[in-house]
Amino acid sequence: MKSLEELTRKNIWSLAPYSSARNEYAGREARVFLDANENPYNQPFNRYPDPLQLELKAAIAKVKGVPAENIFLGNGSDEAIDLPYRCFCEPGKDNVVAIEPTYGMYKVCADINDIEYRPVLLDEQYQMTAEKLLAATDELTKIIWLCTPNNPTGNCLNREEVVKVIEGFEGLVIVDEAYSDFSSQKPLRTELAKYANLIVLNTMSKAWGCAAIRLGMAFASEEIIHILNKVKYPYNVNQLTQQQALEALTDPFEVDNWVKILLQERGRMMEAFAMLPICEKVYPTDANFFLAKMTDATKIYNYLVDRGIIVRNRTRVQLCQNCLRITIGTKTENSELIAALRQY
Ligand SMILES: *Cc1c(COP(=O)(O)O)cnc(C)c1O
Repeated sequence: MKSLEELTRKNIWSLAPYSSARNEYAGREARVFLDANENPYNQPFNRYPDPLQLELKAAIAKVKGVPAENIFLGNGSDEAIDLPYRCFCEPGKDNVVAIEPTYGMYKVCADINDIEYRPVLLDEQYQMTAEKLLAATDELTKIIWLCTPNNPTGNCLNREEVVKVIEGFEGLVIVDEAYSDFSSQKPLRTELAKYANLIVLNTMSKAWGCAAIRLGMAFASEEIIHILNKVKYPYNVNQLTQQQALEALTDPFEVDNWVKILLQERGRMMEAFAMLPICEKVYPTDANFFLAKMTDATKIYNYLVDRGIIVRNRTRVQLCQNCLRITIGTKTENSELIAALRQY
């Protein structure tokens, strides 16, 4: 790996971050807060939230098995996807490499930040090789994006190849594990200590059932976390989100239970799809959704919309022609979808 200083934009490396009122009395006991121009009335909303979310990070550390110092929290994964561009990629000059197809936000954020985005097509089984990805990199490649289980394909990437990418690349490798709770593959976040150039993303939006509160996580070395923290907005995770996340984290068993039900339902739905005359192929998945190749994805999509049922039409995505992406819902919702498709 190149040094972190080499990988970081010069202006960011030398940045003196905003120091908030509450940063400055570090650690000592305080009772009277006349430092932040807050209104003393309207508790508890009158006070600025903890900019480093320490209580929440301690709870996440326990549940995720990652030390609190190795955790960055953001306004959804969206923030954890955007920030690495702003920290490490020089607009109009640097580039990133990513698997294709994958989650659309990596490219949107590259475009917003004026960073060249180099997609590398997966094979027919939606797998990649380290060799092909690394061949797409050059001296100006700062980040390689991987997503496993991948969206929209649903499958896990081959772990050996993922490790080869991490070990063979001089820059940063960001592995988005948004769906790892649904997967039997061991999450990479537990192996952070081995790889100084690895960033793993997680989210409260999927298995944890908290998409509305907007909480995303990046797990990485303390040095990388420090750089992300310098650039983020001071109060990027609001108080309501921190409170709600803390509450959700008190009951990981409920999440386990949801995951169990969703995986059962996923099995039932995939079998039902395989039996439909209008379904040509059901792709293997490790996530809470699956991809199905249909006879005519757009017609079927529109038919479902007319009945108030929305799935994701991925037909225009490379390697996904005529594919619908089906999220697993409640038993009732899933049965409604199947019933509608049987009447098509
Ligand atoms: C849904 C999803 C996310 C979640 O994004 P949030 O901003 O945390 O809601 C992240 N990565 C992938 C690949 C996803 O599919």
